[in-house]
Amino acid sequence: ATPTALMVGTGRGAQLGILIKGPEVLESTRRVDTVVLDKTGTVTTGRMTLQEVYAAEGADEREVLRLAGALEHASEHPVARAVAAGARERVGELPAVERFENVPGRGVRGCVAGREVAVGRLFEELPEELARARDKAESNGRTAVVAGWDGVARGVLAVADAVQETSAQAVRELRALGLTPVLLTGDNRRVAEAVARTVGIDQVIAEVLPEDKVAVVRRLQGEGRTVAMVGDGVNDAAALATADLGLAMGTGTDAAIEAGDLTLVRGDLRVAADAIRLSRRTLATIK
Ligand code: ADP
Ligand code: MG
Repeated sequence: ATPTALMVGTGRGAQLGILIKGPEVLESTRRVDTVVLDKTGTVTTGRMTLQEVYAAEGADEREVLRLAGALEHASEHPVARAVAAGARERVGELPAVERFENVPGRGVRGCVAGREVAVGRLFEELPEELARARDKAESNGRTAVVAGWDGVARGVLAVADAVQETSAQAVRELRALGLTPVLLTGDNRRVAEAVARTVGIDQVIAEVLPEDKVAVVRRLQGEGRTVAMVGDGVNDAAALATADLGLAMGTGTDAAIEAGDLTLVRGDLRVAADAIRLSRRTLATIK
């Protein structure tokens, strides 16, 4: 009876839009008490759009857009896509990239039109006016990145993301199942807290570098919690593999899907709650 019930559970999962790696996954799903949610692309749509461009005194807004847009065109990061698309829309054709380097969780660096360009969180020193522009964008819930070249910060680009319509309902359902939700992100604290408030999460862990997401999962496990992690990005893969249960958004990257135990096919967070409900019910049938 046991294998049959597990197979029925797996089949029912497929109907709900949950792909389960193997029947043994249901057991860890049942024990989970904490659910760590990646922000970008999991709780939010991850489809960001460029909202504002702020050029420092002496810098030209169009030049900021041209150089930052060109460099970001070479990156797949949601922030990069927004900057590249927004720049193209505003200034047209972008110059070619001569060298490109991705700095995970920080931004991009490279050579465009003979200039050493950087975009992201890569400048230590910001002129007062740019720091103000960045703070203002962040307090409006935007992700702000700094663009500059030849060692000087020259502009701030603010991008906006939208919370997925189903996220707040999903968080309520996860809580109703007795799980504690935690929001985890590499993005800045203010943006993270705004998203957390919108969906009803109290615990926020922000400004975490990609390689430190695993450490966050381990720390929670060290506190005696059984942790599910939901994520979509390349950055989330290691944390998905480390968690007691890894749930990958089907709309996410291949790396995340490979690392996860479960895939939420439609990328709908409510299905995470369905998965937990299903496994509890399936295993209750077996006992
Ligand atoms: P998340 O955990 O939300 O998926 P990441 O760890 O990928 O975020 O990125 C964290 C932060 O690093 C971003 O919010 C952004 O400020 C910066 N960043 C990362 N990649 C880029 C990029 N290609 N261009 C600009 N900024 C970037
Ligand atoms: Mg993400």
